[in-house]
Amino acid sequence: MEIFEAMQLHDHEQVLFSYETSCGYRGIIAIHNTMLGPALGGTRFWNYASDTEAINDVLRLSRGMTYKAAVAGLNLGGGKSVIIGDPKTRRREMIFRAHGRFVDSLKGRYITAEDVGTSVEDMSYVQMETEFVTGVAGGSGDPSPVTAYGTYSGIKACAHEKFGDDSLEGRTIAVQGVGHVGYHLCSYLAAEGAKLIVNDIDEAKVRRVVDEFHARPIGNDDIYDVEADIFAPCALGAVINDRTIQRFKFQVIAGAANNQLDEERHGDMLEERGILYAPDYVINAGGLINVYGELSGWSPDRAKRKAGEIYETLTQLFEIAKEQGLPTYEAADRLAERRIEQVAQLKRTWI
Ligand code: NAD
Repeated sequence: MEIFEAMQLHDHEQVLFSYETSCGYRGIIAIHNTMLGPALGGTRFWNYASDTEAINDVLRLSRGMTYKAAVAGLNLGGGKSVIIGDPKTRRREMIFRAHGRFVDSLKGRYITAEDVGTSVEDMSYVQMETEFVTGVAGGSGDPSPVTAYGTYSGIKACAHEKFGDDSLEGRTIAVQGVGHVGYHLCSYLAAEGAKLIVNDIDEAKVRRVVDEFHARPIGNDDIYDVEADIFAPCALGAVINDRTIQRFKFQVIAGAANNQLDEERHGDMLEERGILYAPDYVINAGGLINVYGELSGWSPDRAKRKAGEIYETLTQLFEIAKEQGLPTYEAADRLAERRIEQVAQLKRTWI
């Protein structure tokens, strides 16, 4: 597809390219929508097979950021950048300084952060050239406690919707992946008296939650068959797929992992099976809320409170799904679009 055709398809505002001969830097920034605020989204460093593959990725990811920020109630737009090249390169300083200059040329229309293939150190090179970077050393720090709190709040909203009561006491919850987010999530769930079943490929991490929260461990693949009220994927993407979906005995799927649906049709299949699905980008927005808090000078408590609003957001989303007869993953998009449209319609007045 031609570039303008691809931009027109999802109404992207701007796509920019930058090339720096001295270090071989090749970067693309895509700005999807800035109706709510400056476009925010991380920098992905990847060995793309072709320029077209990189363009498609940056267009897709920047659009995703618009929806994520809008539904989280943040005043941010959606953007993303990609750097084409080998992420194992030793020329990191020059590559990321070149990227910083590119980001700076937009004077704040786009703010960047870490993503796949980039690190906090890389962002410190970016910061040498621009102030429009977040998630740097000395900033708001590890976002996972806020993400976990948002996910916990979202699980409670799901319990209210599905069981008519948001108490998690006595509910059995299977948590896949007890890393940064999964561990903190388990601590919230255990404090409320939920019965935990956990799994991780890293045995030391499993042992920690078994010891601290009396969780029951389960084998890697067995987690998909386990008898539990709620499944919380907090490890990998694409765990809701043709191979797993028929095995689920869960009534709710609500976890922090990104891109949980292998394909959109798996969201329709969950709906058909009567399994309530909390769309991933809605329930895991705590990480983005944490970054926004850093940009806005919020206290950690304020960021946590905002992440707690994921409860109300999901409740609204379930209403839309019922009213419009939509699967929840589609209702999430409608909720995001509704907020952008409503802000766009606000009357501008001269002061
Ligand atoms: P993490 O790397 O700390 O934890 C992931 C855990 O999953 C690790 O302990 C890993 O051993 C385990 N794991 C990997 N493959 C597995 C498998 N096949 N089966 C079981 N366990 C497996 O990452 P995290 O920061 O806790 O993030 C977890 C998920 O949440 C990711 O999908 C991430 O993209 C998403 N997310 C995280 C944040 C955040 O604030 N950290 C924000 C939004 C979304």
